[in-house]
Amino acid sequence: QRFPVVIVGAGPAGLTIGNILRAASVDCLVLEVETREFIERRPRAGVIEEWAVRGLEQRGLADNLLARAELHTECEFRFEARRHRFSYHELTGHHHFVYPQPLLVTDLVREYADVRGGAIRFGVRDVQLHDLDSDRPSVSYTDPETGQRQLVHCDFVAGCDGARGVTRTVLPERARIARHDYGIGWLALLAEAPPSSDCVLFGIHPRGFAGHMPRSPEVTRYYLECPPGDDPENWSHERVWTELQERLGAADRPPLTEGRLIEKRVLDMHNYVVEPMVFGRLFLAGDAAHLTAPIAAKGMNLALHDAFLLGDGLVSYLTKGDAGGLHGYSDACLQRVWDYQEFSQWLSDVYHGTSSGDPFRAGTTLARLRRLFTSPAAAGAFAEQYLGEDSAT
Ligand code: FAD
Repeated sequence: QRFPVVIVGAGPAGLTIGNILRAASVDCLVLEVETREFIERRPRAGVIEEWAVRGLEQRGLADNLLARAELHTECEFRFEARRHRFSYHELTGHHHFVYPQPLLVTDLVREYADVRGGAIRFGVRDVQLHDLDSDRPSVSYTDPETGQRQLVHCDFVAGCDGARGVTRTVLPERARIARHDYGIGWLALLAEAPPSSDCVLFGIHPRGFAGHMPRSPEVTRYYLECPPGDDPENWSHERVWTELQERLGAADRPPLTEGRLIEKRVLDMHNYVVEPMVFGRLFLAGDAAHLTAPIAAKGMNLALHDAFLLGDGLVSYLTKGDAGGLHGYSDACLQRVWDYQEFSQWLSDVYHGTSSGDPFRAGTTLARLRRLFTSPAAAGAFAEQYLGEDSAT
């Protein structure tokens, strides 16, 4: 078997690259460990930045998203039991799209496999990469139906297998991986409950951060700061809702609308960045190359940014022999990656400052928050970074 490109992982990054290649009639094979049903239901991200939606639209991948996504123009900080609305649209003219990741993945896989005729194997086991330093790399895997090993020759491998994938593990020792651990956990929750506000809420509270993110008229994502490595079983239905009501409470608002918790897991807030993102014929993209804790809702946006650049770069090289895009790929991606990491770190200080137990940090955090609502320059800078509009696209 031979394909010009083998893509490992059918997440937003891998499927977007596959779609870009197929639109240019470049053959590729996507290898995915999970089933199609599983990836179409896996709940995760929901916030997509405007430039990313435009990027999908330009590549014919945003029809459903544009028809169904909600537009968000404001967010609200709650601290000291008061509400503070922040209208980023008023400041910048830009907004966020809210479209759950499983819907985007469903659209992308349908377009890739059913419309553009892309090859994809689900449920593969034990993916291994070979000869990446040569110009004849290959990828092998175990076919789930026959149990046989399959070997696929290719020109390039796109490593899009996320934070727990295999492609990053083959990097040579000289690869630099910068890591950062916030030492904080978030209990990530999905509640079968309508949103309690028309926008994202950030609760900055001495008991810990809490977040409210509308996902659909029936489902709302919530976050609660907790110790890293905490057991979700420590968080009963009653405890979750008591903490959410307390940390997101505002004197002039009714309590949150409660509902059944359909997802409850602890995420440890940590980041990493692989530099460079290219090794021989292996090009990493998305969470495989860099993890951004979901503090600022940036991970899927970065995955899409990488995918646009890598997809376009591969097409230019494979159809016109122009290697410019591939040569500049890693540097162009990393600029936005580091911008977003820096913003996430800044925001983490804000979210977790009052609960740190350090009265000095609590004081500076509240000063930062107040400045967002008194200084137009501070508000403008925050809005740009929150929307990702300051980074080069
Ligand atoms: P993934 O989506 O992880 O896809 C990788 C794929 O590779 C998976 O399908 C996996 O099954 C497959 N795979 C793994 N190992 C192998 C292997 N060995 N062989 C073959 N296939 C393999 N980001 C935002 O931008 N906005 C948000 O609001 C947001 N909220 C989030 C909330 C939560 C709770 C979490 C956990 C994440 C959130 N993120 C958010 C981050 C976002 O979900 C990820 O950054 C995004 O999924 C990255 O896409 P990807 O394609 O790089 O990787």
